[in-house]
Amino acid sequence: MFATEFEYQKASSVSEALQLLSGNGEAKILAGGHSLIPIMKLRLARPGKVIDIGGISELKGISVENGTLRIGALTTHAEIVASEQVRTASGILWETAYGIGDPQVRNRGTIGGNVAHADPASDLPTVLKVMNATFNIQGQSGSRSVSADDFFIGAFTTALGDDEILTGVSMPVLAENQHAEYAKMAHPATSFAVVGAACVVTMDHHNCTAARVAVGGLTPTPMRGPSVEQALAGQELTAENITAATGLIVKDVGSDLIGDIFASAEYRTAMAAIELKHAVFHATGLAHH
Ligand SMILES: Cc1cc2nc3c(=O)[nH]c(=O)nc-3n(C[C@H](O)[C@H](O)[C@H](O)COP(=O)(O)OP(=O)(O)OC[C@H]3O[C@@H](n4cnc5c(N)ncnc54)[C@H](O)[C@@H]3O)c2cc1C
Repeated sequence: MFATEFEYQKASSVSEALQLLSGNGEAKILAGGHSLIPIMKLRLARPGKVIDIGGISELKGISVENGTLRIGALTTHAEIVASEQVRTASGILWETAYGIGDPQVRNRGTIGGNVAHADPASDLPTVLKVMNATFNIQGQSGSRSVSADDFFIGAFTTALGDDEILTGVSMPVLAENQHAEYAKMAHPATSFAVVGAACVVTMDHHNCTAARVAVGGLTPTPMRGPSVEQALAGQELTAENITAATGLIVKDVGSDLIGDIFASAEYRTAMAAIELKHAVFHATGLAHH
């Protein structure tokens, strides 16, 4: 199917893109186009105007400064995979980007487009949630920062206003005693996460002093697992302790669960515990890729 007719405009700077967006609720930003174009062709989106930000160089780039990794919104998944800085500062993000889709998707898809689209099956929202990332947003009246907990509001819904642009994502560089991993049950056709699970464990030798976990694909927005985090913290991370702690995710999932033709809510819940166990096993070196 063809998309409905729309006006196309290419912005050469963030301020020009914001001007084009201003007061135009019908307009949509185009980054890599790997989500927007398909939903326009399916006529699930019918924007009157498409504003192409693909040539705005100020939205690209990766830097590490004062313990913070910052990635411009227009940075592609392939550029993240090619970055030694990301690999060193946040191996979990590097590895997750490597597992997105296929080379074509990684070459066009951007980190900003991925999180702004907020598909519950995307990998990056889960990983950015567990990494305590901050989302940097620019509007006509200034900029603001939103935490991962507040950025993802619902399936395909974020804190971004109609007239705002996501300029980048920042996150703390992992400390030497912090180990982070992401594991997913990938959809065989697209690699999207049927269920994805991420963890960051802070270790003192074999003992876990703090843990953060997040699960995606199961609920409209990625969720944390407080019961799992409490059970992991203060424990020696043996295979038995990890299995018992990650199984507690079923206590945290609530009732707003996704079930569809790929996998029922019950199946996704069971897989959440398994993928979370895989993530912590990998993080602690009990399993290897
Ligand atoms: C076949 C296929 C397989 C895929 N597999 C995976 C996978 O395994 N894991 C995964 O996580 N993802 C996967 N994806 C998604 C892909 O990774 C892209 O990240 C995603 O499609 C969106 O990025 P984009 O740059 O193409 O955004 P676009 O399609 O251009 O935009 C998506 C949405 O975000 C908005 N937007 C984009 N940039 C900004 C910005 N800077 N500020 C404000 N709003 C913005 C747009 O207006 C639009 O609403 C797959 C996609 C395809 C087509």
